[in-house]
Amino acid sequence: MFLGILKESAAGETRVALLPDSLKTLRAQDIDITVEAGAGSASGASDTAYIEAGAQVTTDRDSILAQADLLPTVNTLPAHDQAKLKRRAVVVGFLRPLDAPGELVTAIARPTTLFSMELVPRISRAQSMDALSSMATVAGYKAVIAAADRLPRLFPMLMTAAGTIPPARVFVIGAGVAGLQAIATARRLGAVVEAYDVRAAAGEQVRSLGAKFLDVDLGGIATEGGGGYAAELTEEALDRGRDLITKTAAHSDVVITTAQVPGRPAPRLIRGDAVEAMRPGSVLVDLAAPAGGNCELTKPGVTQDIGGVTLLAPMNMPAEIPVHASQLYARNILNFLALIVKKGALSVDLDDEVLAGACVAHEGRPVNPRVAKLLETTLSTK
Ligand code: NAD
Repeated sequence: MFLGILKESAAGETRVALLPDSLKTLRAQDIDITVEAGAGSASGASDTAYIEAGAQVTTDRDSILAQADLLPTVNTLPAHDQAKLKRRAVVVGFLRPLDAPGELVTAIARPTTLFSMELVPRISRAQSMDALSSMATVAGYKAVIAAADRLPRLFPMLMTAAGTIPPARVFVIGAGVAGLQAIATARRLGAVVEAYDVRAAAGEQVRSLGAKFLDVDLGGIATEGGGGYAAELTEEALDRGRDLITKTAAHSDVVITTAQVPGRPAPRLIRGDAVEAMRPGSVLVDLAAPAGGNCELTKPGVTQDIGGVTLLAPMNMPAEIPVHASQLYARNILNFLALIVKKGALSVDLDDEVLAGACVAHEGRPVNPRVAKLLETTLSTK
């Protein structure tokens, strides 16, 4: 069997799907591995390190696409690459099947088997494959560091002979994986932290990190969807959160916002007037920018100065810490591959709950029912 590792082609992408350290168990099964030259260089993995781990390195990207039976990737391949894939190849990566299903049609028709790391079910057995959580951890940490770097103030309280400096106030919106990591990082830097989430269950986790949880009375509506994720709220319920956010943002130095609902545009939680009411010099980091953003004024990928408030809207925060983002992702991928590679051969059993959940398409047809429905709509409107 041939496994290919490509140099990611998306603009600004620095991660790689597998690192040299990850190749040992695959090589032990006699799997031939070919790596595109430079694939790991931004993540600290040289071509030589891949060769020493038993892989071959080539500059011929097309030959990898044509030969690979198994292709772990970070991002969806562009359509011109999908058209060159070996028929019946298996591709595993962040394929964005719920956000951009139309970008997968060439690969589906080839046909190929597509597994999306975003769709791996959140059950205990699959925790070691939870790449969304890995990337959210990295993004939550880096968001605080990026904010601290921009903030014209110190984070910790300092008592010096020249006077006392109060601690920075950080407000985290969405206390999931990224939000909790942001809270922990801001606390380590000495900030006073407040956090808000629609899921009441997040309250205990927030408090255990030494932050204050802000409760909003949402009138007893269900705020939890499946798999530990939040449900999409009505405009009326969202408004109650927006009022609290406007009030809290006004006395915060840093706002980090991470709220997401899987497969839906990010909820618009921060109104323009909330940003205008923030103090000049304060910083807002919108980690939901790839899903459109939590702030009304966010322009995904663009850093703005809005009346002295810096608004960051990073599209790929994990790529800013490529070494550890790749290390965590490669481990998640390797654990996933263990489900579909047995004794050096591909063996895809769609009766396995994890594989069935993560499978976007197999034998030319969509498998995941949500993706199937989205594809139907996408294709009929083309
Ligand atoms: P996510 O990235 O989808 O969303 C981030 C946060 O935004 C969530 O905490 C969500 O509740 C919050 N949010 C959504 N809409 C909001 C709104 N209108 N206002 C305020 N907050 C809003 O979620 P995530 O971080 O990937 O995971 C959420 C939770 O899932 C985790 O905290 C954890 O409890 C659970 N989880 C379970 C597993 C598992 O394997 N069982 C793995 C990872 C996470």
